[in-house]
Amino acid sequence: MGSITLENVNKSFGEVQVIPDISLDIRDGEFIVFVGPSGCGKSTLLRLIAGLEDTTRGRILLDGQDMTDAPPARRGLAMVFQSYALYPHMSVRDNIAFPLKMAKAPKEVIDQKVEYAARTLNLSDYLDRRPRALSGGQRQRVAIGRAIVREPKAFLFDEPLSNLDAALRVNMRLEITELHQQLKTTMIYVTHDQVEAMTMADRIVVLNAGTVEQFGTPLELYRTPANRFVAGFIGSPK
Ligand code: ADP
Ligand code: MG
Repeated sequence: MGSITLENVNKSFGEVQVIPDISLDIRDGEFIVFVGPSGCGKSTLLRLIAGLEDTTRGRILLDGQDMTDAPPARRGLAMVFQSYALYPHMSVRDNIAFPLKMAKAPKEVIDQKVEYAARTLNLSDYLDRRPRALSGGQRQRVAIGRAIVREPKAFLFDEPLSNLDAALRVNMRLEITELHQQLKTTMIYVTHDQVEAMTMADRIVVLNAGTVEQFGTPLELYRTPANRFVAGFIGSPK
């Protein structure tokens, strides 16, 4: 299960309210995109959900359980970063296995989960390589593999494709969408790219200056944008 509820979440850094007041209900298994211009608070919102930042006010519930004050490790979520954060001296196998080794999982369990992740991501032939011997897309897949082995309630992606060139981005977009169809796990995907949002999301959260301008399906946003900001951002006729 992987439902995520935000209740009147506020995040301030000193005097600056980056997120004044956001409430959201994300259902188990949804592919949600947070989209909005640079600096609007997308990463901050994702980091609050992950537990990497403390909320100033409000509550965060995972599967109905209050996790507002829980440390990241207790939340059962997996964050995938754009910088890959792979260990250069470790093989692909050891990079993917890393969270399981940290958790002291038995070797058979580790092997079986790493094989599964590698098969899912078409990395089976690359398990003994080092990250530097991989393409950018393959490295990104290793980073996703490291999330898969943890069997998270939800995957949190923060602009995972922004380091890739345009053609590869389109490919990886499809791969992540396919991964979602296969795993059926909740995913939150942060991007400033409206095309990514419109093509990948079940529902989109349009953010502007820390405020939700609209939360709806791509079709709803296109047909009935809530205001000029949404219309302008999504590029729909209004
Ligand atoms: P986005 O991911 O949409 O580009 P961010 O969530 O990174 O936006 O940032 C939103 C706003 O919060 C920005 O104005 C940024 O400067 C500010 N901000 C983010 N983190 C901090 C921090 N640790 N201290 C102060 N301000 C921050
Ligand atoms: Mg960001």
